[in-house]
Amino acid sequence: MVYLDHAASTTIRPVAVQAWTDAAMLTGNPSSSHAAGRKGRRLVEDARESIAANLGVKPDTIFFTSGGTEADNAAVLGTVNARRREDPRRDVVIVSPIEHKAVLEPIEGLVASGMTIEKLRVDRSGRVQVAHLKELLTQYRGRIALVAVMWANNEVGAVQPIEEIVSLCRPARVPVHSDAVQAVGSPGLSLALPNTAAMSAHKLGGPKGVGILIHQNRYPMDPFIRGGGQENGIRGGTLDVPCIVGMAAAIKEVFAEPEATDAKYRQLRNSLVAGVQDSVPDAVVNSDADAGLPGLAHISFPGCEGDALMLLLDSAGVEVSVGSACSSGATKTSHVLQAMGIDEEAAGGSLRFSVGWSNTQEDVDVLLRVLPEAVARARQAYVRTPVEGS
Ligand code: PLP
Repeated sequence: MVYLDHAASTTIRPVAVQAWTDAAMLTGNPSSSHAAGRKGRRLVEDARESIAANLGVKPDTIFFTSGGTEADNAAVLGTVNARRREDPRRDVVIVSPIEHKAVLEPIEGLVASGMTIEKLRVDRSGRVQVAHLKELLTQYRGRIALVAVMWANNEVGAVQPIEEIVSLCRPARVPVHSDAVQAVGSPGLSLALPNTAAMSAHKLGGPKGVGILIHQNRYPMDPFIRGGGQENGIRGGTLDVPCIVGMAAAIKEVFAEPEATDAKYRQLRNSLVAGVQDSVPDAVVNSDADAGLPGLAHISFPGCEGDALMLLLDSAGVEVSVGSACSSGATKTSHVLQAMGIDEEAAGGSLRFSVGWSNTQEDVDVLLRVLPEAVARARQAYVRTPVEGS
């Protein structure tokens, strides 16, 4: 099989498997004071220091979680709750409409407790319009609990102007949360900028079920999971030592040569896009080649149904995704594509291709060999459906 769905979850790196396996054999709870406990604790703290050095943040700003979803929920709700307790007039959250559901759902849930949610406008490439943020910061001066804008979008790969966003919010004394799950490893990532950030190990070659919440502590944040007092009381629960050391090993490898990785992904993605445009000339590329994530291409195939095309490619030995894997199975148009102004038909016929560390040019060549027939068959099926249904 050729796997071109690394944005959903990338292949685990052998260094992560090795580190995970070694640590899995250790006995004891890393919170215990005896020798076995201390050994586990040492591994966790070494991992924290190594990750901090790679990410350019201080070790005490890192909190281990069960993944990106938990880190997003913890940051968003923990910050809003603490800010509202400090000052009940803070009843507004500003969020981009293209966030992952791990950010959008907890924020939208705040409406029930009387919060106002403002969604930022994005342009056709999925980039947040900073001018709109400026307007909202003025309109709601003194009332904003949080601004949440992801670092890079998981469906179309749009990289957001986080530095600009933070530089507008900081003088207004407004904390920024940025979901960096898809961005880790990209050159130029500076996770010390936002007050909170989320990461997930399985997107960069680490184990599934482990992630990181980064909290710079410029603004307070309530604990999310209580009990046990682990992680400075911010996130209770026995630490998963093997997953944490596996994640640290993966991150170390990701940061060993970010420029080379970026160049490799860009080259594979560009060759994929050029090949698709050659064989399916009316295909529309929705992702931005220059300003987007280097390894991701989001393409609409007119006259096709995305699910059908994905399944045809799957049976031809190539695994790709319809929009976002986290919401696949749902037939409604992706909220990201809707916010970008992509019409329902184009959105419904789109696929996400994402390359990763284990891909080679041969993988792209296999896709390009099987794609024309898959598109032709998906188009036949698409034309037939309304006839059969009528
Ligand atoms: N945020 C983004 C941007 C994602 O792409 C994902 C996963 O697809 C998540 C959050 C959730 O991360 P996890 O799978 O670790 O819970």
